Amino acid sequence: RSYLDRIQALDGVLNSFVTIDESGALAAAAAADARLAKGDTAPLLGIPLAHKDIFCTRGLRSSCGSRMLDNFVPPYDATVVARLRTAGTVMLGKTNMDEFAMGSSNETSFYGPSQNPWDTSRVPGGSSGGSAAAVAAMLAPMATGTDTGGSIRQPAAFCGITGLKPTYGRVSRLGMVAFASSLDQAGPMARNAEDCALLLNAIAGVDPLDSTSAEEPVPDFTATLERPLAGLRIGLPREYFGSGLDDATGTRIHAALALLEQQGATLVDVSLPHTGLSIPTYYIIAPAEASTNLSRFDGVRYGYRCENPADLHDLYTRSREEGFGDEVKRRILVGTYALSAGYYDAYYKKAQQVRRLIRQDFVDCFREVDIIAGPTTPGPAFALGAKTSDPLSMYLEDVYTLAVNLAGLPGMSVPAGFSNGLPVGLQLIGGHFDEARLLNVAHQLQ
Ligand code: GLN
Repeated sequence: RSYLDRIQALDGVLNSFVTIDESGALAAAAAADARLAKGDTAPLLGIPLAHKDIFCTRGLRSSCGSRMLDNFVPPYDATVVARLRTAGTVMLGKTNMDEFAMGSSNETSFYGPSQNPWDTSRVPGGSSGGSAAAVAAMLAPMATGTDTGGSIRQPAAFCGITGLKPTYGRVSRLGMVAFASSLDQAGPMARNAEDCALLLNAIAGVDPLDSTSAEEPVPDFTATLERPLAGLRIGLPREYFGSGLDDATGTRIHAALALLEQQGATLVDVSLPHTGLSIPTYYIIAPAEASTNLSRFDGVRYGYRCENPADLHDLYTRSREEGFGDEVKRRILVGTYALSAGYYDAYYKKAQQVRRLIRQDFVDCFREVDIIAGPTTPGPAFALGAKTSDPLSMYLEDVYTLAVNLAGLPGMSVPAGFSNGLPVGLQLIGGHFDEARLLNVAHQLQ
């Protein structure tokens, strides 16, 4: 009730929720109370949370931030949602996001942008900006997000919370609206690493309904939070500390790294030489996959349908014309072009080859160090509207986060203080399936 009241009081300004499920939340809370009374000690029992609106929730609209799905009420729960229901959590509602998770500022949402609680003239980041803003403003103690190229880590950094993108395959993608299937991954967003560990415990693990989910055993992510950092080798990629990094942000990152050094970690200079190719590589592969994934939205099966179509062709074209926003259309066009006969070898195949080189940089690096650290973003949260007319400047925001998805690695953003009153995020990157180590390091910083 107290979270619902807080949402009521503050979300008129923040716009971090697109749907609030008051009756569902109160019923789930009553059910949790009943389990508690029977002596159930499940760690997340009765804990309120918010789900990014990209996750299918049975009986509750799941819009993915798009007019296309504004009327879509799924008949089933995403695996992430189902596991968290079983764990006894209380879903407060669904959070705002960039349309189909395409964006870095929440400004492509059909429902209007969410705002940054630290300064409401600024963006909360994206695409999981609603989740980040809601957690930062204490409208929910924890939330789910998804990260295809930075969408958990970048909004976590902009809003001063902790967010973890797990290894590709660690968490089931079933029931998560697909953007770029080889990059998408769901993960926890919360106020600290311990809460992220609890949330990850509940959602991680193989799912027979998602063939890309990994068979890998799932540790108890809370068990190693207190492990001392003595002897830990932390790689600092020189490409992440170059001229694009805002000075004040860099100062905060170095201060956080000094704290890790005081705890016995060793800082090692490393290089990820193909970093500069992440943006062009990602912005071929992600739109290519998106263009095929979004072909299912045709006005026929579910979602938006135009009024009075003249014929089948008119039905397809006008439903897509009216149902999708500009950024989504831009990605569909770029992706369709990159995959078309005659251009496939030059763009898509080339991008896949470069992706392999980017991945190899990390594999080589992890022979020398245990984790990699650097900034999550080049600077703090920018002003609403500052980059909306220039999509390329928006894409440049993702310079430090994209490679992690291209390589399938776990990555995390941890609060590292403030610069000029705005939060700064330290990014930690681990080897495949080494989320426990990232959570351990983050916990020691908090
Ligand atoms: N900002 C990136 C994009 O627009 C990443 C989005 C995401 O991770 N979903 O594609």
